[in-house]
Amino acid sequence: MNTVNEQAGVAMAAGSTSPVSGAIYLDFQASTPVDPAVVSLMFEWLSNRCGNPHSGEHTFGWAARESVERARGQVARVVHADPSDIVFTSGATEANNLALFGVAQRAHPGRDTILVSSSEHASILAPARALGERGFRIVVLPIEGDGGLDINALETELSNRVLLVSVAAANNEIGTIQDLRAIGSRCHDVGALFHTDAVQALTGCDLPLGELPVDLASLSSHKAYGPAGIGALYVAPGRSRMVAPQLLGGDQQEGLRSGSLSTPLCIGFGHACALLAKHGAEERVRVAELRNELWGLLRAAFPGIQLNGGELSTRRHPGNLNVALPGIDAKELVLMLQPWVACSTGSACHSGIEGPSHVLLAAGLSHEAASASWRMSLGRQSTREDVQIAASRITQALNDLLLKDDAPVSSMT
Ligand code: PMP
Repeated sequence: MNTVNEQAGVAMAAGSTSPVSGAIYLDFQASTPVDPAVVSLMFEWLSNRCGNPHSGEHTFGWAARESVERARGQVARVVHADPSDIVFTSGATEANNLALFGVAQRAHPGRDTILVSSSEHASILAPARALGERGFRIVVLPIEGDGGLDINALETELSNRVLLVSVAAANNEIGTIQDLRAIGSRCHDVGALFHTDAVQALTGCDLPLGELPVDLASLSSHKAYGPAGIGALYVAPGRSRMVAPQLLGGDQQEGLRSGSLSTPLCIGFGHACALLAKHGAEERVRVAELRNELWGLLRAAFPGIQLNGGELSTRRHPGNLNVALPGIDAKELVLMLQPWVACSTGSACHSGIEGPSHVLLAAGLSHEAASASWRMSLGRQSTREDVQIAASRITQALNDLLLKDDAPVSSMT
């Protein structure tokens, strides 16, 4: 039994609505379990310390500030940046909003166009839509079938009217990893700023932001084995004056994001990044092997199953598997798998919205194929045993679904 499953057991014992110990978590791209080493550092601070990191007149405040600044350094290190380039936020939704609204507010006259890819997260698309209502020209760039940005479309739209381009470094639904260097340098050729939503890239690939033509990047702790409720906006050197603060108040963090920082959340996010800096590369290899094994088992059971997005290569998030079995209703499948296996039909931030995933539609899937698609995402706590049990449960559920519709079934259980 792995850590997550043990946690499910604990939750059940505490009387939660999750009725099963041993449930298998395959939704790491929605949120990752907090690493136990992160929990213990946060617990130590919460249990024994207090103080506002912005209190400058006593040792409690100084100690809290030292912890926050150490954490800022840890976040900076994993993205090869300077600590002064990291602005803590409440998460990536806030970081994305700060990037888009902040840059728009400081736009030079004549730079009225913002380009976003069609597969962006809702926390990019919604601010872009809002800026469109305020008079900005918003262009949604198409993606290819494998999720990669259509570079020709980018080239066509780039001009000295473009203020900002936003393209996610790694997609949260189909895992596509974009070529940040190629996209960013084209943006810079026309003097446009380049922002990337790098939430999924922290666990998906190397992310040397400080060495890339990236001006702004959003990060989220709870996608990287840290606590929820904290993230960051990376702001490249010299770019902070191009971003107007969106939260006004005590002028914390050089005035770019007012509000008292939570020391334990910063400590947790910082340590999660330190762990990734140390073990991330080998972890990606292990997780990709497990993901590939899951794909192999499902494909053996259902030869008609289709892989959405690109090949299972280094251009795809190692934990991401997004598949379609034509004819099934994936929402029904995901529900049938309860409480045994947790996977999803799209972004957690999209789950209240009716209709198939906009990312799958943007990648060229029909409504029918998108409705037959679901995402399984693996991570640090996933084990081979999880993969085998999950494959067997998913196969069983799919067979039950197909039997209902009188279609041919697989022999594997
Ligand atoms: N961008 C991407 C690509 C995401 O996957 C998510 C979380 N689903 C977010 C932004 C929002 O992050 P947060 O939960 O930290 O606000």
